[in-house]
Amino acid sequence: MSTDIRRLYGVGAVRAAAYARLGVYTVEELLEHYPRGYEERGNIRLLCESDGVGKSAHVLTVATEAKSVRIRGRMSMVKFRAYDESGICDITFFNQEYLKAVFVPGSEFRFYGRVEKKGNRYFMTAPAYEPIREGEVLPPLIPVYPLTEGITQKQLAKDMRAAMVLAASFEDGSNDPLPEELRHKYGLCLQSYALRNIHMPDSFSALAAAKKRLIFEEFFTYALGLSMASAKKTHAPAVPCLADGRAELEAMLPYALTGAQRRVIGEIVADLARDTAMNRLLVGDVGCGKTVCAAAAMLTAVRSGRQAALMAPTEILARQHYAELCGLFEPLGVRCALLIGATSAAEKKKIYRGLCAVEESERIAVVVGTQALLSEGVSFAAPGLVVTDEQHRFGVNQRAILAEKNALSHLLVMSATPIPRSLALSLYGDLDLSVIDEMPPGRQRVDTYVVDERYRERLDGFILKQVAEGGQVYVVCPAVEENSEEESFELSMEEIDGEGQVRRGTPLKSAVSYAEELKERFPALRIGVLHGRMKSKEKDAVMAEFSAGRMDVLVSTTVIEVGVNVPNACLMIVENADRFGLSQLHQLRGRVGRGRRKSFCVLVSESATGESDAQERLSVMKSCYDGYAIAERDLEMRGPGDFLRGSTDVSVRQSGGVRFRLAALCDDTGLMKTAFAEARAMIGTDPDLSGHPLLAERVRGMFALEEGTIN
Ligand code: ADP
Ligand code: MG
Repeated sequence: MSTDIRRLYGVGAVRAAAYARLGVYTVEELLEHYPRGYEERGNIRLLCESDGVGKSAHVLTVATEAKSVRIRGRMSMVKFRAYDESGICDITFFNQEYLKAVFVPGSEFRFYGRVEKKGNRYFMTAPAYEPIREGEVLPPLIPVYPLTEGITQKQLAKDMRAAMVLAASFEDGSNDPLPEELRHKYGLCLQSYALRNIHMPDSFSALAAAKKRLIFEEFFTYALGLSMASAKKTHAPAVPCLADGRAELEAMLPYALTGAQRRVIGEIVADLARDTAMNRLLVGDVGCGKTVCAAAAMLTAVRSGRQAALMAPTEILARQHYAELCGLFEPLGVRCALLIGATSAAEKKKIYRGLCAVEESERIAVVVGTQALLSEGVSFAAPGLVVTDEQHRFGVNQRAILAEKNALSHLLVMSATPIPRSLALSLYGDLDLSVIDEMPPGRQRVDTYVVDERYRERLDGFILKQVAEGGQVYVVCPAVEENSEEESFELSMEEIDGEGQVRRGTPLKSAVSYAEELKERFPALRIGVLHGRMKSKEKDAVMAEFSAGRMDVLVSTTVIEVGVNVPNACLMIVENADRFGLSQLHQLRGRVGRGRRKSFCVLVSESATGESDAQERLSVMKSCYDGYAIAERDLEMRGPGDFLRGSTDVSVRQSGGVRFRLAALCDDTGLMKTAFAEARAMIGTDPDLSGHPLLAERVRGMFALEEGTIN
């Protein structure tokens, strides 16, 4: 399974390079390149049942000899007629002369494509086709893979079939990483069956079984890695930070700390004083004041003669943290620096020097940055504390690099996603947990409404009213750009639930095209757009315009979700709200109501009426303002997937070390809990997995660890 992809027949250097772009180097990794969705070709319709818009599958008999027609120079067209009991269809292909020999009169094919109707005639152009042969069943679902330049669906499917032939040699389960007793206990299918049916499902129920098995395995592998890491970490040595920065910091604050902040800072400062490394997760709802807790920890490290680093997932956030921390620290004579991708090369060099300066007087004590902090040039003279913000965006691997650069230092991880306690304990089992469960006084409540399209006009009026009064508006859309036509007709992996039932969603509003639409509707308003596919410089520029009040409406994907602070923003509109997790919606709602303006959140959803799950889910937002309660409800109703995906925005999804593949679509909390419990039990009896070499290999693969790290 770990065979190089180039060993597959027909895969040469060029195709291998394309696969590398998808992160696929081995046969095993190819098999884990799961489809993003499927074409429902098993759903055969009559010609008269096609809708003229979407693609559909039709079994047709070829009626006439295929004729080729020359058009414009070298172009040629192959044309023939085929029929079913409801009508006759003209089918055309371009530049494929050889098809004349394929479509023999009397033969039957399954065609898949868009059917157009003119008069009482049907037409299809270049449909997908498969011959129907006696005694052979055509697959009902055809996989659609995420692609990159240089690979087509056809090539990928062909390579996948070759890879599956290899995998199929283990049909007896002898090479299955999941032990047999686990498979039996939880009714999980064999790995070989799962791989075959995730790529080429025999049926919806086989697909559901495959998904279940693979999701269990992902959780199980992750949990094994985590349990092993936490067993090791408890003993990692660290430099004790014995000073106490609390009083000094509090004197700088224009407000009094809340009781919860005090308690949490106490827990952190006590950890820092130990000679074993702190590994603490600090969770607290948006706006509860985590930054100041981190600041207290950082100052404690600095006053103990050590350095502190804070890493944020985006440049926008890094800048914001830097501004806030500088304001607190510089008056105290603590040298701070900002290190992000946009920092000039010369400035970077200066910072690198300042960070590794032996002389304390020349040393940078506090550095705030993005992943740029992980670059090679960065080394610390006296590392003491690493803080990462928005933990779920960073992979365990990135934390590991950071830890390596900061040997002997303590780790504080902050997360504003109020994840349910049980989930936090599972997912971050290698961390201790501190919770801020109290908001600073005087926070206003953001009035929340759930509406559907019928309210569009009123909503437009509301936008104008808020802007006229000097407020600013966020509009959040789930997609960056409109789905391509191809994507919008296929069935996405997400839409197939645990029982193999199909749940279709409404089309997604895209930030880019919706911004254009709004510009037309409101020519007088200053409207900007922000999404993850923009360069970070462009993003920062847009955010700066909005922050400065030079923009009225910001149409965005969830990139604004994390930590952004614009106190003048008073209206948050979320389009396709049913597509978001409640916790995510709660996060988004937290972007408004940060200043003195009365603030509102409007959740727009087609499913807002009727008795859908979505309606019930969204209505939680109207009555509930406690991020933790919302998170618990979300976990109950939608399962853990939303928490694992973190965001629907592409740029964010790609970052991070461990990437859940199918598990990020999991809607079954029970399955996850079981996998975690079983993993803990296994590590209890086989702490280094020496009795389960196949699993040890899976763990190494998932955490991208070198051979020898485990065992
Ligand atoms: P988050 O936990 O979302 O990161 P921040 O740390 O950004 O929240 O804090 C949000 C805002 O609340 C900041 O403007 C901060 O100055 C303010 N703040 C923090 N703690 C308190 C407090 N105890 N009393 C009043 N305001 C506070
Ligand atoms: Mg924050």
